Amino acid sequence: MAGLNRRSFLATAGGTCALALCPFTSLLTPASAQENLPEARVTPHPALHWEKQSGRRIKCTLCPRECLVDDRERGYCGVRENRGGDYFTLVWGNPCTLNIDPVEKKPLNHFLPGTKIFSLATVGCNVNCKFCQNWQISQVRPEQERSYDASPQKIIEMAKQSGSPAIASTYTEPVVFYEYVKDIGRIALQQGLKNVIISNGYIQEKPLLELLPYLSAVKIDLKAFTERFYKEIVGGELKPVLDTLERLVKAGMWTELVYLVIPTQNDDAAEIRSMCRWVGEKLGRDVPVHFTRFHPEYMLKTLPPTPVATLEQAREIALAEGLHYAYVGNVPGHPGEHTYCPSCQAVVIHRSGFRVELDGFAHGACKKCRQKIPGVWV
Ligand code: SF4
Repeated sequence: MAGLNRRSFLATAGGTCALALCPFTSLLTPASAQENLPEARVTPHPALHWEKQSGRRIKCTLCPRECLVDDRERGYCGVRENRGGDYFTLVWGNPCTLNIDPVEKKPLNHFLPGTKIFSLATVGCNVNCKFCQNWQISQVRPEQERSYDASPQKIIEMAKQSGSPAIASTYTEPVVFYEYVKDIGRIALQQGLKNVIISNGYIQEKPLLELLPYLSAVKIDLKAFTERFYKEIVGGELKPVLDTLERLVKAGMWTELVYLVIPTQNDDAAEIRSMCRWVGEKLGRDVPVHFTRFHPEYMLKTLPPTPVATLEQAREIALAEGLHYAYVGNVPGHPGEHTYCPSCQAVVIHRSGFRVELDGFAHGACKKCRQKIPGVWV
């Protein structure tokens, strides 16, 4: 890793903590912009979504974990602190990573294809996936990682300067920097930019619904389709994530799903079939599902990378279950990266890694048969 310090490596690694390291990610790091920002000091900012308990204890109601937090203590995610019976976030305005990525890297395949997206993260996460690729920033407290001072307005200015039409909160877990995401989204949408989150979906209903007016699209990592996996490998729960997905779709939010296929852990064909059937029935056939390739990482280094044949089989299952948009991810050059018209099967959007060609696509539809393709296109 000559020439790369730890921060540069994290920035170029990209993706989300749920995604395996993609080999084609050495992109456009705005290192100079990041380095020009002043270093942040850990400063409390009022938190949203918590309740007072007896004494000075509080209950955080942001995510389903519902941490009970005593005075001078923090919740599980390590970035929200009780000070004298009031609750604060310690990461508002303090990103630890800023980057400019192809939107396909998130991955979002039906959202402004071929564009760059200004991406940021603070430290912290409300789960601890054993396969996290960004554990160096997701599993630390604010004092353990250098962060920068960047107000929401500053983020908007930087995004505009970069020429990105959208901002993504990604890499760690946007739920735990909820207040920052919300304030960024409010200004971004007012000023003509879009705002997306790349999330595990582990959030309670009320904060989710309050955030939706400030979002343009959401990508959710559905990490498996069993509670066993969520309990043992993620440190979370499946049911609240499924609830989030249903709420997003019901609210009309553009939503894409990623299912990282991990050998021996969540790659059973019956489990994938059940998941696809659930997506078709509860979310609808137009919600894209990305089956992405796992690479050994963090605490799952002894497992092999996902065989491409397993990803292809998962995609076939999804199509057989009637889903319209099933993708193979983290396999650059694979034909499963393309968007196919569900009506005439023509290639509508051609992808090879992050190279995108829109020759078969016009005005949100298949050029050949005029079938409308759902997504956020302008
Ligand atoms: S957001 Fe953090 S503090 Fe709040 S319930 Fe979830 S893990 Fe606990």
